[in-house]
Amino acid sequence: HAKRQGRNTYSVYSEHLSHEMVRRLHLETGLRRALERGEMRVVFQPKMDLATGQISGAEALLRWDSRELGAVSPVEFIPVAEDTGMIIAIGEWVLEEVCRWLARWNRQGHRPVRVAVNLSARQFRDPLLVERVKAIVAAAGVSARQLEFELTESVLVENATEATKALWALRGLGVTLSVDDFGTGYSSLSYLKRFPIDALKIDQSFVRDLPDSSDDKAIVRAIILMGRSLDLALVAEGVETQAQADFLKANQCTYAQGYLFARPISGPEFEAFMVGCDDDLELGVG
Ligand code: C2E
Ligand code: MG
Ligand code: MG
Ligand code: MG
Repeated sequence: HAKRQGRNTYSVYSEHLSHEMVRRLHLETGLRRALERGEMRVVFQPKMDLATGQISGAEALLRWDSRELGAVSPVEFIPVAEDTGMIIAIGEWVLEEVCRWLARWNRQGHRPVRVAVNLSARQFRDPLLVERVKAIVAAAGVSARQLEFELTESVLVENATEATKALWALRGLGVTLSVDDFGTGYSSLSYLKRFPIDALKIDQSFVRDLPDSSDDKAIVRAIILMGRSLDLALVAEGVETQAQADFLKANQCTYAQGYLFARPISGPEFEAFMVGCDDDLELGVG
């Protein structure tokens, strides 16, 4: 009996593995053609100023609608793009798209917005990163000041030697730098002193149970206090309810993103969203 059980366990296990490997193969093959097939698109999630209710910028998020696999989450395909190195080409395309939209919004005469782009470890280690950013921004005719890069704590800490140089070089171009998913990575905060960081994005896992969880209230208050005393901007992620927004505003968190304000939306939808915000401002209802 034990033997049979053992064999079953083994076959279930290997079947499971091979499903994973097949999926992985499909992802790799699909990713290789995704850009040329036009299956990728960039969406924008508005970032709101909690004090004024005005839009202060956006985060660019990548979407992949694969012909064979359907919609694939970036949580699944970004790591594959990382492992295979395809993230370099994909990341470059994201940056080009973002700069094209920025140029368009500037031409349309919207108040200048800043768009944040996520950078993964491999992109951050790319020695050509700074030159690429410089060239893309110049080609699009936008200012690097309209760009922000989001890096996670682990990306910063695990690449500490290169990080200092790369961050200062990026900063030199005029881009803003923020720490994504803050609070989920490392216990050592010394990197905040060493690196030219402008903002902390409070991870959504700390926001989810506000204002009911007294632990999360304490953690979020502490992050805000620390951030403010280090002169960093604070952005709360994943804000879904008015009660969460009220707590964050009362505790002096400056910015927030989340479904309460807007989901990630297409370029044209983001334009309409900006126009709506401008109208509110003119009517004095913002
Ligand atoms: P992230 O940078 O932390 O992005 C925030 C994620 O939270 C996004 O998921 C966003 O859609 C989601 N979100 C926003 N508001 C809410 C909310 O109110 N409630 C909930 N439950 N979720 C909310 P998404 O778009 O699936 O992206 C997942 C991750 O994939 C991102 O996490 C980022 O690490 C990575 N990613 C996305 N686009 C890119 C990209 O262009 N380049 C790189 N390197 N990574 C990317
Ligand atoms: Mg992010
Ligand atoms: Mg995040
Ligand atoms: Mg995240």
